[in-house]
Amino acid sequence: MLKLSNVNTYYGNIQALKDLSIEINEGEIITLIGANGAGKTTTLMSISGVVKPRSGEILFDGQPIHTMNPEKIVTMGLCQVPEGRRIFPQLTVLENLDMGAYLREDKEEVKKDLDYVMDLFPILKERRNQAGGTLSGGEQQMLAISRALMARPRLLLLDEPSLGLAPLIIKQIFEIIKRINKENGTTIFLVEQNANLALKSAHRGYVMENGVVTLSDTAQNLLSNQEVKKAYLGL
Ligand code: ATP
Repeated sequence: MLKLSNVNTYYGNIQALKDLSIEINEGEIITLIGANGAGKTTTLMSISGVVKPRSGEILFDGQPIHTMNPEKIVTMGLCQVPEGRRIFPQLTVLENLDMGAYLREDKEEVKKDLDYVMDLFPILKERRNQAGGTLSGGEQQMLAISRALMARPRLLLLDEPSLGLAPLIIKQIFEIIKRINKENGTTIFLVEQNANLALKSAHRGYVMENGVVTLSDTAQNLLSNQEVKKAYLGL
């Protein structure tokens, strides 16, 4: 479904991604783990078109997307939930959700998706007329995921959904991520520093260091890999 081949992305003279190659099949949950500054966010930004790779190729359903603008990429079915949520704090929960669907014309289906996300996160239904900025961190993460789902993506990119949240909320959010994948067949690319949780939720994983993929395997094998255990699982 998604194929990155030899992607090189720079910020000025700094090379953040070095010959990065990643493949994601339809229906999978794939995780990308790595330390601070490894290049995880840059990988997502390169896929969603926010940052343009200097060289290499990114294919979505066989079509090159590395030259497309981010809006066009969203309409193709690829949507990113950015790190730190970035919901619209002044807008209500419902208005935030509407923004997620603003590129869609199929209004009847949008209504169904609204019901679906309210069912996934009942707290958002309760809070629907409340300003996004007044929600708790966990609720804002739920809203950010729901807003992305309102675009009805076939591939959902999640950037550190666990960041800054309490363990119980993180558990709840990861259960929902797995549910979205199972119920809708939505493919998920999950970037996480919480390697233990990410690998326990994913089918396969990639490990990244300094802009380079150093390991890729099934999530189960990575969980029992000695290097991964030492460097990322604190075991
Ligand atoms: P974290 O987990 O801390 O978010 P990350 O793995 O997502 O880290 P990136 O944010 O992709 O890593 O950063 C990769 C490298 O690119 C780092 O060295 C970072 O300092 C650099 N970088 C990221 N964004 C910019 C930018 N806007 N301008 C210059 N350098 C940047």
